[in-house]
Amino acid sequence: MNVYANLLPFMNKIDEADAFIREWNGGIEISTDGPHWHGNTDWNREQERFESFHGDMGVHLPIWELNLASIQFPGHAAYSFDIYRTYLEWAAGFASHAVLHTHLYASPLFHKEEAQKRSRHYIKQLGEVAKQNDITLFVENVGFHDKMLFDEQEFVQLFEDIPTIKALLDVGHATINKWDIPAVIKALGRNLGALHLHDNDGKGDLHLPIGAGVTDWTSIWAALDTLSHSPKLILEYEGTAPLEVIKEHGNQLMREGKVAEPSAV
Ligand SMILES: [Zn+2]
Repeated sequence: MNVYANLLPFMNKIDEADAFIREWNGGIEISTDGPHWHGNTDWNREQERFESFHGDMGVHLPIWELNLASIQFPGHAAYSFDIYRTYLEWAAGFASHAVLHTHLYASPLFHKEEAQKRSRHYIKQLGEVAKQNDITLFVENVGFHDKMLFDEQEFVQLFEDIPTIKALLDVGHATINKWDIPAVIKALGRNLGALHLHDNDGKGDLHLPIGAGVTDWTSIWAALDTLSHSPKLILEYEGTAPLEVIKEHGNQLMREGKVAEPSAV
């Protein structure tokens, strides 16, 4: 089974995730951000939340307080790497994949080339850690417009250059950056390990359900059909999406490999 739900809708109310998970037939991707994540968080207890879940699990590594591509503060980039390594080793104990952002997506890129180099340097090392720990490391396209560290071609190239990682193509982010998404899917080919599926108005990162925005899904499903393997399909809907819609779309993905008839939201 390659269909997952990211637990983003529960980021601020993780105790409510249990009821959803019990009625969900796919895998889950847990986050390591939110009010239940703090310097004092007991990681074992966070893992125990999902002990009764029998499906496959992924872990989205921390997003908002780390930055592998920091140039002004090299120590912050090195510290971010250390933390990511620790989380990755922890995730390897129970999850089949981990998701990593290339950089802190909200930061201006005053030294883009240097930042790319730094990000690549640490991503490569994290790929080695993932390999040693038998977990797949997905690297995700993040950052909009002038805050996008790797453009379409550079993103594809990253996975040619670093064979220990796989691409996670976030369709919503690619929509905002006006990427040619079917072309990127085909160019990534076997290096495409997963997709974050969500929609938006072409401007804001709204994480709307498939079909509720401007994304051309028909061409995306067609491009996925041309692949000789099945990347993980991860629904990454925001908290306002009704849980019924997540389940309905998840079930369509499991049945048909696409959401051909998006529910009205
Ligand atoms: Zn994403």
